[in-house]
Amino acid sequence: MPRPIEALIHTAALAHNLARARQAAPDARVWAVVKANAYGHGIERAYAGLRGADGFALLDLDEAERLRALDWRGPILLLEGCFEARDLERCSRLNLWHAVHHDAQIEWLAAHKTQAPHRVFLKMNSGMNRLGFTAQAFRSAWARLNALPQVDEISLMTHFADADGERGVAQQVATFEAASRDLPGERSLSNSAATLRHGSAAADWVRAGIMVYGSAPDHPQHDIAHWQLRPAMTLRSRLIGLQMLQRGDSVGYGSSFVADAPMRIGVVACGYADGYPRACATGTPVLVDGVRTRTVGRVSMDMITVDLQPVPAAGLGSEVTLWGEGPRGSRLPIDEVARAAGTIGYELMCALAQRVPTRIDG
Ligand SMILES: *Cc1c(COP(=O)(O)O)cnc(C)c1O
Repeated sequence: MPRPIEALIHTAALAHNLARARQAAPDARVWAVVKANAYGHGIERAYAGLRGADGFALLDLDEAERLRALDWRGPILLLEGCFEARDLERCSRLNLWHAVHHDAQIEWLAAHKTQAPHRVFLKMNSGMNRLGFTAQAFRSAWARLNALPQVDEISLMTHFADADGERGVAQQVATFEAASRDLPGERSLSNSAATLRHGSAAADWVRAGIMVYGSAPDHPQHDIAHWQLRPAMTLRSRLIGLQMLQRGDSVGYGSSFVADAPMRIGVVACGYADGYPRACATGTPVLVDGVRTRTVGRVSMDMITVDLQPVPAAGLGSEVTLWGEGPRGSRLPIDEVARAAGTIGYELMCALAQRVPTRIDG
């Protein structure tokens, strides 16, 4: 028998979450953001659940090629655009739309020989100060693009820094609108957090990433139940060992957990080499046979240890849900585990390790 850990990718949950994006932005088209190998789910595995999207947004030309190999004929947007001039040849060949966020990308286009002109998304830096032309430089970039025979339609985009938090999007929306008011073209502003929390910014296209994978972009203020999202990934394993601790006994490396009374613990075939965060301290939530309990002691490379006091019937082979859907309707949102590790759901799903066998559920 192989080591009992596995990941499941829930096709129906992906489709459900995509439908939630449509519901939240009923007048917009929806990009399913599938960068980072569909946030760790695997582009090929996520495809069945997300193929109802209006387009796919990603960063990597190889990933775009994989989508075309799945026979996706619709729009694909490169969110960071081209990294060098010859990337434009692949854009032409694969019919990719691409962001334009700095001057060199315009110069590469001007020198590019193509039969079919390209659709581009001109990106404004409206305050995040990562990618894009400043509001002052935006208009002149638009005019240069508009003069190129290599360019067909110019759409306008920006990205929010605080859609999930208190500052919100109003300031960036105002900057974007003031600097683009009389320019033609479709608009794309919103990521998942903006789509859920600031519906009025939805414009023509929303870019739904984390929400389609079933993580709340503004956790812990809101959880996936609040946003009616479903986990798209389950990481599960089994108990492969049991120990009885006496008062004063410790567990694992560094003896960081010490029992203050007799207790039974279970050893789970899952560790940081599987992508379970080592930063998860004693007390991280976990399900055993669908019952919520906690980890005890340090996460090691291949194992974690869990408190079996709330699950007296648990034994060797009992099912352990690290995150996602558990047995009998139980559920542990990835956001809760991420929070225990001092990070966000995005990082955990993206870090699912290669060695974890992953299959499609549905
Ligand atoms: C990753 C990304 C998104 C998706 O963000 P989520 O928070 O996952 O919804 C949207 N737009 C751009 C430019 C991105 O890079």
